[in-house]
Amino acid sequence: MPEDTGKQRLFFALWPPPGLQRALAERAREALDGRRARRVPAENLHVTLAFLGEVDARTRECAEEAAGSLELPSFTLAIDRLGLWARRGLLWAGPSRAPEALPALAAELGRSLEPCGLERDRRPFRAHLTLARKAAGQPPRQAMDPLEWRVDRFVLVASQLGPGGSAYTLLREWPLHG
Ligand code: ATP
Ligand code: MG
Repeated sequence: MPEDTGKQRLFFALWPPPGLQRALAERAREALDGRRARRVPAENLHVTLAFLGEVDARTRECAEEAAGSLELPSFTLAIDRLGLWARRGLLWAGPSRAPEALPALAAELGRSLEPCGLERDRRPFRAHLTLARKAAGQPPRQAMDPLEWRVDRFVLVASQLGPGGSAYTLLREWPLHG
């Protein structure tokens, strides 16, 4: 338990405003069209930028300083496609074309966390919001009417794993500029 070890399971993410989260959850419901799946609750929908794992307080402090040292631009995303990663039945939404500022943000964060002893994810960054897991059946239609998202901050989130899914707590946020 985190209480026992003093460790927290942390990740950096983009967090959509509640209205956009609700719109995305609605798109997921439509795409699944009654098929079985473990849908992510609207208020949990996010884009993971960097996953830290279970870290101690000192590492968290280092990560927060690293995040605070970044000076990166804000940008706009058009969430305009759905996909299904069949192996895990993972239904996702994402931008078909993301501005360079998005992968740059993920890469810069990853780089800045290395001196904290955190390893960078070697897999290429694929911007997506997980809408549902364990989705059965056919992949959905790929295109969707774009949902526009002005991204002007990123957040540090604590995740507590539980039997009914993860519970997230937004700990802190940093602005993206301009
Ligand atoms: P659950 O594990 O209960 O299904 P979850 O995956 O959303 O829920 P976490 O496992 O705490 O909760 O993950 C938090 C975020 O970090 C999610 O967006 C998840 O996809 C991502 N993530 C988890 N593990 C890794 C990892 N090893 N590498 C990269 N990203 C990860
Ligand atoms: Mg997980």
